[in-house]
Amino acid sequence: MKSLTIKLILAFLVISLTVAALGAFFAWRVTTNEFQTFVVDRIQDEFIAMVSSYYQEHGSWLGILKKYPPRPPLQTQSQGPDNQKQVPISYALVDQTGIVLLPSGPYRPHDRVPADVLSEGTPIEIEGQIVGTALITGQVPELNSVEQRYLKRTNQALLLAALSATGIALILGVLLARSLTRPLRELTAATRAVARGDLEQQVAVRSQDELGELTAAFNQMSTDLARATQSRRQMTADIAHDLRTPLTVIGGYLESMRDGVLKPTPDRLEMMQAEVGHLKRLVDDLRTLSLADAGSLTLDKHEISPQTLLLRVTDIYQLIAEKIEVSLTARIEPDLPLVSVDEERLVQVLGNLVSNALRYTPKGGQIILEAKRGVDSVLLSVQDTGIGITAEDLSRIFDRFYRADQSRRQNEGESGLGLSIARSIIEAHGGTIEVESEMGRGTKFTINLPVST
Ligand code: ADP
Repeated sequence: MKSLTIKLILAFLVISLTVAALGAFFAWRVTTNEFQTFVVDRIQDEFIAMVSSYYQEHGSWLGILKKYPPRPPLQTQSQGPDNQKQVPISYALVDQTGIVLLPSGPYRPHDRVPADVLSEGTPIEIEGQIVGTALITGQVPELNSVEQRYLKRTNQALLLAALSATGIALILGVLLARSLTRPLRELTAATRAVARGDLEQQVAVRSQDELGELTAAFNQMSTDLARATQSRRQMTADIAHDLRTPLTVIGGYLESMRDGVLKPTPDRLEMMQAEVGHLKRLVDDLRTLSLADAGSLTLDKHEISPQTLLLRVTDIYQLIAEKIEVSLTARIEPDLPLVSVDEERLVQVLGNLVSNALRYTPKGGQIILEAKRGVDSVLLSVQDTGIGITAEDLSRIFDRFYRADQSRRQNEGESGLGLSIARSIIEAHGGTIEVESEMGRGTKFTINLPVST
């Protein structure tokens, strides 16, 4: 934890020191070069001015060597003891034909200078005519003390700037490291709390950057985890409750029969059989759900027309519907494409929707099964004119063990698992299931199944 802070501070320090050192070095180089160029230009200007005025005065170079006989090169710089070994910068004068007029360095009087050397010199122009060339000799002299002092001051200023930059970088580094590590520390503490079993953890989101995103994602994960654990606990309690009731009934009957209190009449045995059937259905439902959760729900798919599916379901429930005086009809759009589905499971889903509709639709009501074309899909719906579902329940009816009327006992196979199983089966087919409902007017479940390609 601490090492990240130190690493960040060190990184800031190293970067700022490197930048400051490089900046100072290049600034020093540029300043020194500029000074040298300035000195060379000044000596050259003086030399050209000197010989030009001679030419203008005499109309030619004749006698210039006498006027300016060979002498130590131009000494414009103050010479320190170190400069003794160096030959300071100087110039030779060459006429327009390349003959040396004023010697200097390697150029001796009356020598002819090769054309390529001549082209590197500085032409001397008088009244629009090139009358000669100045050729540089010697070396660029060292800077004089004034210039050196100026350079030294510049370097001192650069050093100061570098130190200030480093100081600022250090302060910024500390601040940044603290602002970066604070959410990390908080996240670590929250993660440890989650690991200890305290799942509902929320860490303050302090920024919109990646750390903020990480914190928000952690908070979401923590909430989901707490909710999942809560619903797992609730589900275990629901399963225990739903198993216990039929088991209590069966156990009670068996005990009374064993003690001779009750006789095993066909009716009683039938009732026990019904409870066993209910237990079996519950266990089957739980198994279907756990397979769907694990993604290993096996589907025995084959192509079938939506019409066949709907007619199979209406056939099964027609009799019950007639008994409770509810009309059950199927409306099927002509020429619908085939769907590739597990027929038995689809009949199970549609059957569950129809049996729910029958349960919640009063006498004289209507249940319509419809099949029509969707976008690259077929829409199968079950619509009733029943009691409807409240908005609050509507968002939860696909939850496991959720029953809108909590007080209702799980008779007639009502486990509160029907719709969650329906959704798992439809999703395993790559489809969706949606519900819309209005209290007192009815409910419509719509399954959207992709069309087989
Ligand atoms: P159950 O086994 O209790 O029927 P389901 O998962 O099939 O469980 O349904 C969940 C709840 O949704 C039901 O308990 C009921 O309250 C509500 N529900 C389902 N279908 C309808 C419907 N057609 N009309 C009104 N309520 C419905």
